[in-house]
Amino acid sequence: MPFINHLVRDEIRAMSAYAVAAVPEDCIKLDAMELPCRFPDDMMRELAQELAQAQINRYPAPDACGVPKLLRDTFAIPDAAQIALGNGSDELIQLLPLLLAKPGAKMLALEPSFVMYRHNAALAGMEYVGVPLNDDFTLNLPAVLAALETHRPALVFLAYPNNPTGVRFAREEVQAVIDAAPGVVVVDEAYGAFSGDSFLPQAGSEEKLVVLRTLSKIGFAGLRLGYACGHPSLMGELAKIVPPYNMNRLSLTAAAFALRRYGWVAQQIASLKEERARLSEALARLPQVRVFPSEANFVTARVPDAAAVYEALKAHNILIKKLHGSHPLLEQCLRFTVGSPEQNRQVSNVLQTLF
Ligand SMILES: *Cc1c(COP(=O)(O)O)cnc(C)c1O
Repeated sequence: MPFINHLVRDEIRAMSAYAVAAVPEDCIKLDAMELPCRFPDDMMRELAQELAQAQINRYPAPDACGVPKLLRDTFAIPDAAQIALGNGSDELIQLLPLLLAKPGAKMLALEPSFVMYRHNAALAGMEYVGVPLNDDFTLNLPAVLAALETHRPALVFLAYPNNPTGVRFAREEVQAVIDAAPGVVVVDEAYGAFSGDSFLPQAGSEEKLVVLRTLSKIGFAGLRLGYACGHPSLMGELAKIVPPYNMNRLSLTAAAFALRRYGWVAQQIASLKEERARLSEALARLPQVRVFPSEANFVTARVPDAAAVYEALKAHNILIKKLHGSHPLLEQCLRFTVGSPEQNRQVSNVLQTLF
């Protein structure tokens, strides 16, 4: 047995590292909810100039290159809310459990949902409670309320809309969870830009509510910029454990650039939502396929044979996410990131040949 095995914590030895597939350059990559396009050339040249000016010999300034203010203005984050930046919202999903992991403290999340919640409960040494969704991927409110009562979790994670299902829970039910929770509730709005609703307007006015967002799914996954908005009392404590200079100046410079040109981003979001409708309809027209209503930039569907569809697309150089096998409720499910019109057409064409 390797020497290190005696030293590494048992719960970490039991984990596996987050697998990121190596993909060929020319592959149509529809597995990770990335936006299918980048800035046009003229904007890229402008960005390159700004990056060339960035003071990379200096630690990023406390106001983080103006990004918090730009976020506040662009997304109408309430004045009452304090903002924390994370190296991707993933970093904040790691830090929030660490903040609340008193001995015996528990985390509650819904299942299936974003896998990093459970992972970070284990990392922080919190006991994890997973409450299954209904089989149409809506929230099972009686089950959640009962689990809150039984387990009294210090922390609840809830993705709104949810990943990997795309479904947005009923707002009243999420509010009921917030009201009943004895601890902090993180509403993870990684897909908020594609959704018809948000808890962001409430951030800062409810002490236990944290709204988590990210630039990753709206075109800037490579920048690694996530943010949490919450009540100053909680955010003040969180600030104590955010690593100094966790964000880097190149990323912040590029994020500020993007936020100052949010009109372009908003256009991409609008056309992506149209493409989402087209892709959902194309999938729904196939026999024996169940498409779940999505408010995210991906569509989850149940097909007769997920492995066969996955492999057929792969043979055409199209990579999607096979959800089958990751949770009992996801039986025969696949997740299609919405791509460009041309990419989605290619997906539809391959699917036509299979059904
Ligand atoms: C993608 C995703 C994240 C991670 O976002 P990053 O900002 O890229 O770290 C967080 N939550 C959910 C639900 C996601 O799907």
